[in-house]
Amino acid sequence: MTFTPSPLEKHHFKDELFYIKRDDLLDIDFSGNKARKFEYFLVNDFPKIKQIVGFGSNQSNAMYSLSVLAKMKGWKFIYFCDHIPSFLRDNLVGNYKYALANGMELRLSNDKNTDANSLNDNKTIVVQEGGRQIEAKLGLKNLALELIVDIKKENIKNPYIFLPSGTGTTALFLQKYLPFKVFTCSTVGDDLYLKTQWDMVDKNMLEYPNILNSKKKYHYGKLYPEAYQLWKDLKDEMGVEFDLLYDPIGWIKFLENKERLKGTPIYIHQGGLKGNESMKARYERKYDKIL
Ligand SMILES: *Cc1c(COP(=O)(O)O)cnc(C)c1O
Repeated sequence: MTFTPSPLEKHHFKDELFYIKRDDLLDIDFSGNKARKFEYFLVNDFPKIKQIVGFGSNQSNAMYSLSVLAKMKGWKFIYFCDHIPSFLRDNLVGNYKYALANGMELRLSNDKNTDANSLNDNKTIVVQEGGRQIEAKLGLKNLALELIVDIKKENIKNPYIFLPSGTGTTALFLQKYLPFKVFTCSTVGDDLYLKTQWDMVDKNMLEYPNILNSKKKYHYGKLYPEAYQLWKDLKDEMGVEFDLLYDPIGWIKFLENKERLKGTPIYIHQGGLKGNESMKARYERKYDKIL
């Protein structure tokens, strides 16, 4: 199985034109860039494999998508993370809630990377944090091929791509397979962090994506009132709900640099809406009285 192409939509925000690749609509359960990254595991046969093992944070989009993949494949899914706040245990929400409902077996660990990788054997697939691995190439190449068709069909002049990065895997492989410039920004670390990630995924790249920055520094997972406000404005004006963890920071950095980027922008919506349930609750607790 491969996916039916996701729609490319034409939108305006503050009187400027943006095309949005709606990868959030790729599939009801298996959506966004995690579906693309894990497509390799979905479409290939692994007759010996009985379980899939992952690790990362307790609300990660990758964790939820792996739970969907495991369910579809009939595999056991073991996930390592370093803590579960008692608040979350008592109030199941977001990716954590839905991954548990899909049968995820959660294991707490002070060294989740080592512990996850120690389970590696011929019955097990171990997935790196955030799906940062070479197998992601297959699904992201398919996304790039879809974009090339979309751009031709819509007759878009001088297109360029923007998407916010975590590990940078999505941006890296899009740049590999697209004849257009791919711009991204880091939401996790600095420029050097992103380049180090890229070296770990694929050392033989001819061209890296271009990294955009903002005047203000943003820390991963922290709440910012201006980010929440922009997320609301994007939703009100375009009728598109973006993810609350990566997208608002992505849009802030994108809009800050947009004037000097020449051409027609295509923003990649990378899904993650299941995770909004917990992010929204955090924002509402902190800011809804003010905003
Ligand atoms: C995982 C994720 C990202 C980051 O993707 P990378 O390939 O790790 O850069 C961005 N946006 C959303 C919604 C995600 O779920």
